[in-house]
Amino acid sequence: MLFDIHNHCQYSCDSRMKLEEALAMARSLGLGIAVTEHWDYDYPTNPTAFIFDLKDYARRFAALRAREVHPFLFGLEIGMQPHIADENDAVAASQPFDVVLGAMHCIGRRDLYEPSCYEGRTRKEIIAEFLREAAECVAKHDNFDSFAHVDYMCRYWPYKGEEAQLYYEDEPDLFDMLLKTLIANDKPMEINTRRLDDEEARRALLGIYKRYRALGGRYCTLGSDAHYKEHIGRRLDIALALAKEAGLTPVYFKKRKMQVMELE
Ligand SMILES: [Zn+2]
Ligand SMILES: [Zn+2]
Repeated sequence: MLFDIHNHCQYSCDSRMKLEEALAMARSLGLGIAVTEHWDYDYPTNPTAFIFDLKDYARRFAALRAREVHPFLFGLEIGMQPHIADENDAVAASQPFDVVLGAMHCIGRRDLYEPSCYEGRTRKEIIAEFLREAAECVAKHDNFDSFAHVDYMCRYWPYKGEEAQLYYEDEPDLFDMLLKTLIANDKPMEINTRRLDDEEARRALLGIYKRYRALGGRYCTLGSDAHYKEHIGRRLDIALALAKEAGLTPVYFKKRKMQVMELE
């Protein structure tokens, strides 16, 4: 079965999708899914925006899943920053999650979503800062399963045209540092489908995933990053084709254990 293990429901402050709706959608698509609510400690613009009642989430999820045969995985997307690695590791251990995604939403305690994050800096400086801090976060965090959306900042950064994508060739040495750190820590890379409608984004990402494979990385997870039920499973076909081209094996996680997807 195919698994989309990156989705947001009502505990993420930027999503209104109900757990029940996500489950119904997954069933109708014949798709295994994980719900991975946002958990971002010390968010720069609003320290508590992405914090919620974890016990309530766990309780409601367990109640839904108790009468369910369809694969419905309990997850979290943790916003990594170097200074909160220990707190993040503790949160990941605090509930019986199936899967925990490690995500970079901030660099230098600035929010990658905000235009001010990029002001007064060159694109090259931003990329170097991102890659260094991502490698540091991956090394410091001991409790996550897959590295989410390496191209997240391309959604929001101000660069256009030929500068709109993040390329391996932008900073090969720093990219190698991040990719080797992921590999040394047994972390798959997520293929996030949000930007896969863009041909140049696919080309740029393929270069990064191929390098990850060349350095010894073997596995990827797939995630639509849906915040609406209509987006669950979106472009997973393109993600699968990318995985195949890069030579990566698609996996998901159950009870924090890696499982290879059985695909026909
Ligand atoms: Zn994210
Ligand atoms: Zn997300």
